[in-house]
Amino acid sequence: MTEKTGKEHSGRRRIERLRPLLSQKQADTLLITALPNVRYLTGFTGSAGILLLTPAKEALITDSRYTIQAQEELSGSGVALEIARKGLLASTAEYLRRQRGRIRLGYSGSQLTVGHKRILDGALRGRIRWVEASGLVEKLRAIKEPGELATMKAASRLISEVFASVLQKVRIGAQEIQVSAEIEYEIKMRGASGPSFETIVASGTRSALPHARPASKLLSKNELVVLDQGAILCGYCSDMTRTVFLGRAPVRVRRMYQAVREAQEAAKAAVRPGVTAGDVDKAARQVLTRRGFGQFFTHSTGHGLGIEVHEMPRLGAGDPTPLEQGMVVTIEPGAYIEGLGGIRIEDDVVVTSRGSVDLTTATRDFLEL
Ligand code: ZN
Ligand code: ZN
Repeated sequence: MTEKTGKEHSGRRRIERLRPLLSQKQADTLLITALPNVRYLTGFTGSAGILLLTPAKEALITDSRYTIQAQEELSGSGVALEIARKGLLASTAEYLRRQRGRIRLGYSGSQLTVGHKRILDGALRGRIRWVEASGLVEKLRAIKEPGELATMKAASRLISEVFASVLQKVRIGAQEIQVSAEIEYEIKMRGASGPSFETIVASGTRSALPHARPASKLLSKNELVVLDQGAILCGYCSDMTRTVFLGRAPVRVRRMYQAVREAQEAAKAAVRPGVTAGDVDKAARQVLTRRGFGQFFTHSTGHGLGIEVHEMPRLGAGDPTPLEQGMVVTIEPGAYIEGLGGIRIEDDVVVTSRGSVDLTTATRDFLEL
């Protein structure tokens, strides 16, 4: 969400930070088709829009459904508004044709489709020199501004409160899908626009599937239940997992929970500016390996979080990306044993000069309901 500080549009500031990165890539124009990036740079929240950064200015191309909304959201950003008459790409091509000579056009290989490229090439007849320039906006987005951090803190607190209030519904006889519906209802009732992703409620042996979809299965006695949920508040995502037990947990399960919790604490303790994402992953993995659960930790330790639920950096084995102050990442080690069940504990943390600071406020104690 583009928060306005004083009279300044936050998109303006971000565009000014982006321009030098574009020059480094030897591109003179940048084509931005990913909506989260468009939103970050302009504040535009519609579902159809392309942003062009030309040497002289910036233009958002959208369609007539969004004329009024875009005028409001772009106000103060300095970004020109172009309403597409023939379709977004055709209008983008038309806009580019007004530029003289060859266009060194920066694009993202993972976002631009072959169809887009064909339309632009066809309309500009050999004038485009394509320059791979992916990840530029994502790199800026990884470091959160103070206003973004305040919003994310509120989003993490909100989902923590949702969890606490829904716990009473996590009981024997309830369907997984009903519990997930309760979570999503509470998310909206508490002022968020919706869930950050499809809420996961996975019980019993199904909890060993890290990304199980909620089913009609009934929660039963002596089962683990993994609840993974997040809320979008003012355009920013939270993401939190807790694992509870229905009944008194056997010693083996308690040991597993304790190991995951210690792995999470070790990973958080490793978070510091300059430390690589891979080192944080290693800190969690070492604890689980020492406790005999290493082989059951089958995913990476975390990921960046922001306008999207998965952003840069990825906290995976060997990832060389250094953490920087202002990044928000999840720390979510887990262990999944086929036939027994899974345990994951996930929090959102911000990287500060003094290490990680928790945004998630829900208890991490092992709850036996
Ligand atoms: Zn999650
Ligand atoms: Zn996550």
